[in-house]
Amino acid sequence: MKIGCPREIKPQEFRVGLTPAAAAEAILRGHSVLVETQAGMGAGFPDEDYQAAGAEIAPDAKTVFDRADMIVKVKEPQAPERKMLREGQLLFTYLHLAPDPDQTRDLLDSGVTSIAYETVTDARGGLPLLAPMSEVAGRLAPQVGSWALQKANGGRGTLMGGVPGVRPANVVIIGGGVVGAAAARVAVGMGANVTVMDRSVPRLSYLDDVFMGKLTTQYASAAATEDLIQTADMVIGAVLIPGAAAPKLITRDQLSMMPQGAVLVDVAIDQGGCFETSKATTHQDPIYEVDGIVHYCVANMPGAVARTSTQALGNATMPFMLSLADKGWRQAISDDAHLRAGLSTHQGRLTSPPVGEALGIDA
Ligand code: NAD
Repeated sequence: MKIGCPREIKPQEFRVGLTPAAAAEAILRGHSVLVETQAGMGAGFPDEDYQAAGAEIAPDAKTVFDRADMIVKVKEPQAPERKMLREGQLLFTYLHLAPDPDQTRDLLDSGVTSIAYETVTDARGGLPLLAPMSEVAGRLAPQVGSWALQKANGGRGTLMGGVPGVRPANVVIIGGGVVGAAAARVAVGMGANVTVMDRSVPRLSYLDDVFMGKLTTQYASAAATEDLIQTADMVIGAVLIPGAAAPKLITRDQLSMMPQGAVLVDVAIDQGGCFETSKATTHQDPIYEVDGIVHYCVANMPGAVARTSTQALGNATMPFMLSLADKGWRQAISDDAHLRAGLSTHQGRLTSPPVGEALGIDA
């Protein structure tokens, strides 16, 4: 199969769908790989790395879209890319179709067979192609939060780990799932005093077990949240209610209870945010202040570490990408119900019931 990887054109997207390592694996199995020139530059992979792996470099996106049997990307195809898709071609990427009727219509019109990363499942009921990005965002959250805590950035001027004789920062993490556990790992590693809150007691038990006393767990009642934020230097919002907007867990009125210069990092901002005062920000202008509290609310946090994110996403997508290339999509999804869960469109038909429900289209 000819596998094509165009350069991402969505603003501020520096990741790339195929790493040189993934290209090499595909080539070893007898496939050919066509990569648009400069596609990997944002993630630190020059054309020469792909050439060394045996891939061909294409001068532009059109050549990739025209010649490839399967397009592997990161972000949903943008309008000019959608015009280049065709029936009989396979598209494997993040799609997020439910809130995007224009993209859905274009994919259906093109006839392309599309498989969405975000709806591929695993045997434990997880979303294996979303989890690596949650891990990245989670590990990044205390790192950006500690930067925001610095005086010059409007923060309290508290050092995460303290020093001998001076207490460390109090970090409260609301939501102990993939993001929350990853954030806890880094915050604990930085020496902070960490409390993780969740509404799932089994999840709190798990965290209590694996962190072996290095953090405190707390059931996430409204009263406990109000109590803990009064002494928090940093609060990380990491909740998810699948299919719903994030609940607002800290109100504007409650900001006045927090220490001046405390930091809120709202990782759940891509689901609307879990603090009343959150509004999405960008890597260029990541923080703002409300009532003396510094807010960090970047919606695509993994983009800040495009190289790590590309490698983490590539590791997770590679087995599926190779299966699609080796077997063809029909056989690959017939052998793997988890990959089948990603099938979104085929020959003008929507094949994802949740997207159909969201957009009022038969699926
Ligand atoms: P997850 O499902 O693994 O974890 C979510 C956790 O929130 C669960 O343990 C759940 O029990 C808990 N929860 C739900 N409601 C709660 C409440 N009211 N109080 C306390 N806990 C509650 O999800 P995840 O992968 O960790 O993702 C967390 C959030 O981070 C999501 O909103 C996701 O979209 C977002 N995210 C953002 C970025 C970014 O760049 N900003 C990147 C990745 C993920």
